[in-house]
Amino acid sequence: MQVQLLNKSLGGLVAVGLLGTALAADRPNFVLILADDLGYADVGFQGCRDIPTPHIDSLAATGVRFTSGYAAHPFCSPTRASLMTGRYQHRFGYENNIAFDPQNPLMGLPLSEKTIPERLKAAGYTTGMVGKWHLGAAHPFHPNRRGFDFFHGFLGGGHDYFSVNLRQAMGEGYQVPIDHNGKPRDIDGYLTEDLTRAAVGFIRSRSGGPFFLYAAYNAPHTPMQAPKERLDRFAAIQNPRRRTYAAMVSILDDGVGEILSALEAGGVRDNTIVCFLSDNGGPTQSNGSNNDPLRGAKGSVFEGGIRVPFVVSWPARLPQGAVYSHPVISHDLSVTALAVAGIPESETRTLDGVNLVPHLLDPGLKPPHEALFWRMNGGSAWAARAGDWKLLQTGANAAPNLYNLADDLSEARDRTEGPALEADPAARLRMRFDQWNQGNRPPFFPGYREYHEVKNKFYRELIGGAD
Ligand code: CA
Repeated sequence: MQVQLLNKSLGGLVAVGLLGTALAADRPNFVLILADDLGYADVGFQGCRDIPTPHIDSLAATGVRFTSGYAAHPFCSPTRASLMTGRYQHRFGYENNIAFDPQNPLMGLPLSEKTIPERLKAAGYTTGMVGKWHLGAAHPFHPNRRGFDFFHGFLGGGHDYFSVNLRQAMGEGYQVPIDHNGKPRDIDGYLTEDLTRAAVGFIRSRSGGPFFLYAAYNAPHTPMQAPKERLDRFAAIQNPRRRTYAAMVSILDDGVGEILSALEAGGVRDNTIVCFLSDNGGPTQSNGSNNDPLRGAKGSVFEGGIRVPFVVSWPARLPQGAVYSHPVISHDLSVTALAVAGIPESETRTLDGVNLVPHLLDPGLKPPHEALFWRMNGGSAWAARAGDWKLLQTGANAAPNLYNLADDLSEARDRTEGPALEADPAARLRMRFDQWNQGNRPPFFPGYREYHEVKNKFYRELIGGAD
């Protein structure tokens, strides 16, 4: 029944793409909520007990929770590049965390890449973004120039939650003014709440016609900061870092609740697809996050670096309270947005993401991906997963390790040394990875630490100062 409904609906949607906007009212809104550095075990629907997240959990209750939902990268900026393009970011050499440098017009999401909001805008969607961009800080890369009608947030990789301070607006830009459609603003209170108000304002300002909202919260990324009254609520948590983290996640959850309320109030909740995920695994040391039972953390190709809380809710169409276990990846959401907007498949065939809707309506379909891949540090660390098998290499001098995630989710037992397997999954995965990797480019900019080192050295030498 649901499949028939959707087929009928998608038939209409295709007609929209071909014929114009006659059926625009049928097209769903799309709200993509991204958390930053949230641990795998740190929301209620993933089993978290010490941080209540009722609003994020409500998405699982009204939608589909993914048990093998992956970020496209073990850290921030490249995952965002995949989300904004629907492609593996390695296709265009975007593999490092980008430095904050508003003066560098060459370093950002390549202008040759057509973005998801650009495509949706051309299809008649109104597009808005709040929060962390992290895809280039120079003018050509500004979200307002990359497809977003509305932007309220910041261009770097993180931000102070309370303060804007022009005199300290150097380094990674953590205290630059908030950017509101290109105009500087102070933070109104606590940053996570400020971003929520902007997201809600964007939803309320819509008056007919579908919209796309990308709510890229920087919580619970460092710096670890939260208002005192919220910290007091978590006084029972002994570890001060975890306590602050809990307060930050709790305010993020409130933000999700306010976004959902705004959709309800606007009468559009049922036909809005709301997705929630983290951009990478939790960096357990720096922010007190918890990736249990996964091995590894942010920056690692073990599951703890890439497997994240991942949920999609679309009450009008998708099953509710459902679980989907085949592996999916962040840029699947991007391509799903294009598909439900009625953008013809002929325009998106070269993208790597897969429209998940048919798979969620009919779990009997073959999995969305034959294999998924990760690559970092120019290829010295990488991973490939096909079915339950995963092969990974953690560094240039490390030997690859093979794991079977079905009975070893924590990647504790390397199977490369085990008894000979009938069909060698390591060789098969290695071959698949090499094939995929042939279509990739080397990183076209260095990581942010290396970038600043080189730049600072250049200026020190230029002005003749002592090193
Ligand atoms: Ca991150």
